[in-house]
Amino acid sequence: MTFRVRIAPSPTGNLHIGTARTAVFNWLFARHNNGKFILRIEDTDTERSRSEYTDSILEGLRWLGLNWDEGPFFQTERLEMYKQAVQGLLDKGLAYRCYTTSEELEALRVSQKARNQAPRYDNRHRDLTPEKEAELKAEGRSFVIRFKIDDSREIKWNDLVRGEMSWQGSDLGGDMVIARATEDGIGQPLYNFAVVVDDMDMQITHVIRGEDHIANTAKQILLYEAFGAKVPEFSHTPLILNEEGRKLSKRDGVTSISDFQKMGFTPEGLVNYMTLLGWSPPDSTQEIFTLESAAKEFTFERVNKAGAKFDWAKLDWVNSQYIHSMAVDKLTDLLIPFWEEAGYNFSQTKERDWIEKLVALIQPGISRLTEAVDVASIFSTDTVDFDSEATEQLQKEQVKSALQGVVAALDSEIDAANAKDIIKRVVKEQNVKKGLLMRSLRAALTGEMNGPDIVDSWVLLNNTGLDKLRLEKAIALAAD
Ligand code: GLU
Repeated sequence: MTFRVRIAPSPTGNLHIGTARTAVFNWLFARHNNGKFILRIEDTDTERSRSEYTDSILEGLRWLGLNWDEGPFFQTERLEMYKQAVQGLLDKGLAYRCYTTSEELEALRVSQKARNQAPRYDNRHRDLTPEKEAELKAEGRSFVIRFKIDDSREIKWNDLVRGEMSWQGSDLGGDMVIARATEDGIGQPLYNFAVVVDDMDMQITHVIRGEDHIANTAKQILLYEAFGAKVPEFSHTPLILNEEGRKLSKRDGVTSISDFQKMGFTPEGLVNYMTLLGWSPPDSTQEIFTLESAAKEFTFERVNKAGAKFDWAKLDWVNSQYIHSMAVDKLTDLLIPFWEEAGYNFSQTKERDWIEKLVALIQPGISRLTEAVDVASIFSTDTVDFDSEATEQLQKEQVKSALQGVVAALDSEIDAANAKDIIKRVVKEQNVKKGLLMRSLRAALTGEMNGPDIVDSWVLLNNTGLDKLRLEKAIALAAD
């Protein structure tokens, strides 16, 4: 049997980290088992669904490398099928038209609350006589289609993550609405119903989704049974939690994949980190892997039941591993857009070779692509501003004459070897400590006391003719 799984996002927002992580687990499971990964867009909520969100979902999945085998299928293009399925349940007497008004439902809710009962529909229109139904229709009431739920049923399944699960029919809130009326009759299917019809039609063998869907699973199993269909396996994956142990939400700053992209994470780093959110490889010391290699090892036995805490430091670390090992050419292509957005025009004013040298210089020190903006700022302008530490450094004894010695020795374009020669010469001629000279060069050339390798930085500044100007400005500021 070919395993078939799906990701079924609703386009009511950008691709959410939780949905993306569910997509990762589906993808890994499909690839591990040589199965199929299907993409379905659940856009039946026409008021909240938007095509730009669909675009964001497709782009996000592609960016993460979660390629799908079939789809995208759109629920709004499948309405006829849902209508027929609703009719099928009506014909079998397993569903019925309910004419209860929203005011009546509200009154019911209020009275249940007063009695300290959980809100539920009281199935009052389950067995309407044709006369009574005609009467309600004549009042001009609209209707919904409800599916009969047997309160005495115990619904059981063996969850691939959570083991034996059981749910009481009486805890499902009474007969459930599966479709709303539209002008032409049966109308608009609701989530739980459309999902089951689709999962049956698409021959989904394993439903892998977040644990917030557990109660839906109980309802959906009853629907499979009503259709006489085979119930798929279910796997409810743990939620992603914030530092306080609550479900990660918009309040935590970022939730969509495009936010992570803007924050400078690489798709490989982010998807690697998401894989670790709830799953661990058999060799738990192994933390850096591609999706393909994770797929070889992925099973639900190694997925945790407990919620997975989102750990920014770990994500940064995983991401840094990808940045540090990336080919300079590729990293350069990734960094240029961040620099352009910051207003640095390297790609218009500098040779590619120079830009790649800059990338190689800063590569070991950054964990996110966005950090390249700050680190490269000293190369982006002609001028230099000395911060307080750099100014302090320039006030130290011997600094002025040492820097003057450097300027005197600087007659043409230099490479790293020439720069090191000049440093050696000045140390000897001026009898200054090498450390003092290096720190002073850093202060003079970058205006700061921290940053990437100073010799390589100097060479890059020299190539653009900026080093001499900066040294002279520093000398003017240095104490005699
Ligand atoms: N549209 C649902 C969601 O975005 C899908 C849930 C499911 O996988 O069944 O949460």
